[in-house]
Amino acid sequence: MDAPVRQKVDLPVYPSPEAVVADLDPSYPIFCVRPHKIHSVARRFVEGFPGDVLYAVKCNPEPHMLDALFAAGVQHFDTASLAEVARVSEQLPGATSYFMHPIKSRAAILSAHRVYGVDHFVVDHPAELEKIAQIIPPGPDTVIVVRLEIHYEGAVYELSSKFGAPVPEAAALARDALARGYRYGLSFHVGSQCLEAEGFEMGLDLVGQVITQVGEGPVCVDVGGGFPGHYLNSQGAELDDYFVAIRKGLATLALPEECRVLCEPGRGLCVDGESLITQIHLRKDDALYLNDGMYGSFIEEKLGLQLPARMVGSRPFASQTKEYTLYGPTCDSLDIFPRPISLPVDVAEGDWIEFDRIGAYGTACRTQFNGFYADTFIKVESDFGD
Ligand SMILES: *Cc1c(COP(=O)(O)O)cnc(C)c1O
Repeated sequence: MDAPVRQKVDLPVYPSPEAVVADLDPSYPIFCVRPHKIHSVARRFVEGFPGDVLYAVKCNPEPHMLDALFAAGVQHFDTASLAEVARVSEQLPGATSYFMHPIKSRAAILSAHRVYGVDHFVVDHPAELEKIAQIIPPGPDTVIVVRLEIHYEGAVYELSSKFGAPVPEAAALARDALARGYRYGLSFHVGSQCLEAEGFEMGLDLVGQVITQVGEGPVCVDVGGGFPGHYLNSQGAELDDYFVAIRKGLATLALPEECRVLCEPGRGLCVDGESLITQIHLRKDDALYLNDGMYGSFIEEKLGLQLPARMVGSRPFASQTKEYTLYGPTCDSLDIFPRPISLPVDVAEGDWIEFDRIGAYGTACRTQFNGFYADTFIKVESDFGD
């Protein structure tokens, strides 16, 4: 019997956030999903990147996001846990998962390989390669992807202090993988929210150094993620600039004909795919108490990236604005927005504020602390602020 075809994620559709609040009068936060945004950026990646696009599932594993990306042509997925592998496999028949976490439990390696047919595994240390070798019989069907350490200053979040091998160790790992009968690949991650395209050239230069030391070409080169979102205080270069830099870096390498090029965008693919409608539950002078905050969907604000905010037009607002301190709903004093936010002088209890660009890491990192948990998703057809 054929596996049942999963239905596409079906969410209620509204023309705009204004229509959402008019219909639902929501006292709880609501994620506004914009599938047209997800689709257009996914097409830009699939058409502009010189290789295969893997979506980094951790960035936003919501079913609607996987659905929209898959429908737009993203068929490969960067997974970091067995749960992510299972989710991709069950929701998206035909999709391919790559196990891109350098440290995996033995059970996860075994199940990913046996149950889900995963054949790409990242390592950055000989002990992990040894672990894999004790579980997956060596053979050319399995690709050991060696993750390189890269210290690039132009990214907002650095990702190489925890993972990655320096060039000589990476070359030794690749040679070890080959000697055991596996094939090998190379990867790096320039850091998240990478503001300059040249970080990718730097990474590809390191890749070239490893290939020279190994003396045999890889079967894949994975340039990782890092493609930026457009925040109020952090913008980065244009997407095409990154693709140009990657092509330039690739052109300097003598890659075998059959070598695949991969990337693993998370933020860049989903940042514009969701906004969040919050409600003001109390105003005390210049302090506003919202129904979502630092323990909810606002990890990026907490870490210093600034999201565009606007009042949802449920009534007319004064044109004059002032700065407010915003608090989240939990009882922790640390549940406070780290910057003042400018809003109309006459905002009041019951008004709604929409925050844009919450699609990357916002839903993924929210917690249930104090019983507050945003979990309502609807689709809207309008762009933010239109
Ligand atoms: C988090 C992560 C990504 C996605 O990074 P973005 O900066 O969101 O693009 C890709 N690859 C790996 C290995 C990661 O850990």
